[in-house]
Amino acid sequence: KLHNTILELKGNIRVFCRVRPLLPDDGPTTEATVSFPSALELAGRGIELYQSGQKYPFTFDKVFDHSATQQEVFMEISQLVQSALDGYKVCIFAYGQTGSGKTYTMMGRPDAPLQKGLIPRSLEQVFQTSQALAVQGWKYKMQASMLEIYNETIRDLLSPRQITGGAEGGGGAGKQYTIRHDADGNTFVSDLTIVDVCSIREVSSLLQQAAHNRSVGKTDMNEHSSRSHLVFTLRIYGVNESTEQQVQGVLNLIDLAGSERLSRSGATGERLKETQAINKSLSSLSDVIFALAKKEDHVPFRNSKLTYLLQPCLGGDSKTLMFVNVSPDPSSVGESLCSLRFAARVN
Ligand code: ADP
Ligand code: MG
Repeated sequence: KLHNTILELKGNIRVFCRVRPLLPDDGPTTEATVSFPSALELAGRGIELYQSGQKYPFTFDKVFDHSATQQEVFMEISQLVQSALDGYKVCIFAYGQTGSGKTYTMMGRPDAPLQKGLIPRSLEQVFQTSQALAVQGWKYKMQASMLEIYNETIRDLLSPRQITGGAEGGGGAGKQYTIRHDADGNTFVSDLTIVDVCSIREVSSLLQQAAHNRSVGKTDMNEHSSRSHLVFTLRIYGVNESTEQQVQGVLNLIDLAGSERLSRSGATGERLKETQAINKSLSSLSDVIFALAKKEDHVPFRNSKLTYLLQPCLGGDSKTLMFVNVSPDPSSVGESLCSLRFAARVN
C-alpha cells in the first residue's frame, strides 16, 4: 500500500536515488552495525527500508548503490547536460540529510580525478561538446554565476567584494539581489556577479573562489554549507553561423541544504530560524514539483527564494532531475524514510 512511485509523473521530472557507502564513522560501533539487521535493501530500481519491523518500498527512475562510481552516475545525467546545449533549461538537485552524500555527488573531490562530482564533469562535457560542435558552425558563449541561499537571503559567491568582506562574510553585504524574470523566461538577479567562461580551467578557478567565499567568516564550514542551498548556474548561448539558428540553454546544479528534521537538530534561537527557512524552502520545492507534475493551474513558485529563482527552469519544457541521497547508516533510517517520501510524494 505504501508503494509510492514517482515514475507515474513521467513528464520532465525524474528522480534518482543514491545510497553512499558505509563510512567508518557511521553506526553505533562497527560490531553493533554488523549485528544490526540491514536497514535497507536495493534491487533494480527499487529500494526498501526497514524500520520497527515495517517494510517501506520505493521505486525511482534509477537507484545507485554504494559501489556506483562518480563516472557511472555522471553517465546517467550526461544526456540531460547535453540538452542544456540544445537549448533546454535544466535543473539537477541533490536532496538528503546532512552527511548523505549531496556534496560528494554534486562537487565530489575536485582535486581527485576519479572522485570529481557532477558539477565539474558536466562542465567538462559542456566545453568539450561545444568545441566539437564548432565544426558544424556553432559558436557558444557561456556565463556562470554561483550563489547561496541562506535564511531566505541570497549571497553572491563570485562577488569580488566578498574576499575582503568583514565578519558578515561580505557576499555583497547590503545588496538586495532582487530576482526578476522577463517574458522570455530569462532570470535576472540584481547585483549578482556573472562571469563569462570559455574553458574548464576558468570554471575550476571560479569553483575554488566560490568555495573560498562561502567559507569567509565561517568557523564551521560543513555546518554552514549544510544549512544553505548552493546554486551553480551556467547560461549557454549558441548561434550557428551557417544556419543562423540560435539556442539558449541553462544548466542549474543545486546542492540543497540538509533535510534533517527540526526535532533532531534540537533547534533554538538563530538555529531555529535557519531550520524554519530550510523547511520552508524544501517544502516549497516539493510543492512546486508536485504541482507541476500534476499540471495544476497554480504553481506556488513565490513561496521561497529558491523556487522563485528557478521558476523558468522548473516549468514549461524544462527538465528536472532530483537526486535523493541516502545514508546506509542504520541510525539514519528515520531520516532516510523522510527523504524517500519527499522524493516519492506522488502516490
Ligand atoms: P552532504 O553534503 O549530504 O552533507 P557529503 O557529500 O559531505 O554529505 O558526504 C558525507 C561524507 O561521505 C563525506 O566524507 C563524503 O566524502 C562521503 N561520501 C559521500 N558519498 C560518497 C560516495 N558515494 N563514495 C564515497 N564517499 C562518499
Ligand atoms: Mg554538503
